[in-house]
Amino acid sequence: MENLTITKIVAGIKRKEFSPTEIVNYYLDKIEKEDKNIQAFLNVFKNSAIEKAKEIEKILKENKNSFKLLGVPIAIKDNILVKGFPCTAASKILENYIAPYDATVIKKLKKEGAIIIGKTNLDEFAMGSSTENSAFLKTKNPLDLEKVPGGSSGGSASAVAADLVPASLGSDTGGSIRQPAAFCGIVGLKPTYGAVSRYGLIAFASSLDQIGPLTKNVEDAKIIFDIIKGKDEMDNTSVSFFSKDKILSKNKIKIGIPKEFFGDSLDKNIKIGIENLIKKLEKEKIKFEEISLSHSKYALSCYYILATSEASSNLARYDGIKYGFSVLNDFQKNNKNLMDIYFESRGKGFGKEVKRRIMLGTFSLSSGYYDAYYLKAKKVQFLIKEDFNKIFKMVNFIFSPTSPFFPFKIGEKINNPLSMYLSDIYTVPVNLAELPAISIPLKTQTFNNFPVSLQIISPKFQEESLFNIASFIEKLENE
Ligand code: GLN
Repeated sequence: MENLTITKIVAGIKRKEFSPTEIVNYYLDKIEKEDKNIQAFLNVFKNSAIEKAKEIEKILKENKNSFKLLGVPIAIKDNILVKGFPCTAASKILENYIAPYDATVIKKLKKEGAIIIGKTNLDEFAMGSSTENSAFLKTKNPLDLEKVPGGSSGGSASAVAADLVPASLGSDTGGSIRQPAAFCGIVGLKPTYGAVSRYGLIAFASSLDQIGPLTKNVEDAKIIFDIIKGKDEMDNTSVSFFSKDKILSKNKIKIGIPKEFFGDSLDKNIKIGIENLIKKLEKEKIKFEEISLSHSKYALSCYYILATSEASSNLARYDGIKYGFSVLNDFQKNNKNLMDIYFESRGKGFGKEVKRRIMLGTFSLSSGYYDAYYLKAKKVQFLIKEDFNKIFKMVNFIFSPTSPFFPFKIGEKINNPLSMYLSDIYTVPVNLAELPAISIPLKTQTFNNFPVSLQIISPKFQEESLFNIASFIEKLENE
């Protein structure tokens, strides 16, 4: 049963090669044996997964088997609510929080017969690029256990890469699906902003956050995306998905290579890997053109102002009164005042990186500094969007590396936030411009067991075109 994909599981169950219970037990056993080393899961829903498998068997007996995820176990990043189970965002402040409802994406997955098998580790509140900022676990990269899996959806990525689950959901605010997918050698999609409902996603930076799939291949990413996309009344920023795809024949495709993304900060071997791919594609008559995204050099600074500002506001709700961890009991005993409750609950409940971001964001929004920081960053965001708009009048896709470097050692960057922030230098502009992008591993371009990963960016709502070109490359890489 090794290395099954969604497509294979659904087909196998329909053909009665295996039952949903066998599938679920297979993955539960694997998680029990192997997750000790990987530490991808914060919580495994053993009983409910087994029960759900039995339910699906009943459905199968009634011959209603048109569900798209019939019996497919899926792991969920622990910042997405699954009704009745803890949702911690890998933060002590939410350690005992139980989700009162299902996120819209979870409802949609369940409706298609998916089995939610458990919750995966992340950087606290999705802030980070290595999953080391989790208050609970240090997830390892299955390709090399001494290395980080990337982040913040590191648990979701390593669970799929280690074949503990066929697919998972993550969230991406500045790269948190694509970068861990790249580090673990799997596929990750960040959809167009608004394509997928954020209802039930614990907010980090609401104007940038999107939920998306992490899978073993492009086909599976498409299956999940097609299920979770669409307008949701509970999220005003979600839109009725209207495809703007242009399905082009190969010789009509033109791809932009941003010169700013291939400079000195890029690992030499990643550069060579992508250049080799370009040569292969040129033989297939695909055209390439050097382009310039001239404001992209400001993207990271812009992101760290906007994302932290929104985070400082979003995280104000964790005050020791409304949600989660609180020193309130202490307070009653020791006669403390309301301010003490706020300070102490937040002081003890949040980790270092989250506090750093709240301080940065609060500063950028504070009176006297707002114009110089937040407002200016908003203007820079506009210029970054304009760069992409202009370029997409000339090319159909943009290619870039997903990450400037290969996975680093656990502990290597944790005390140097600025070097950690650089992990997202190529992914952040995409969130700022609200565009979709997919990261795929180039299996023939591998260094020390780590595949080079390619990020493909398209205009808004052209996910279908992204899947098409990505699967074309995937096939080429597997030949
Ligand atoms: N690594 C980036 C950050 O730390 C992106 C995080 C994300 O996309 N959630 O903010």
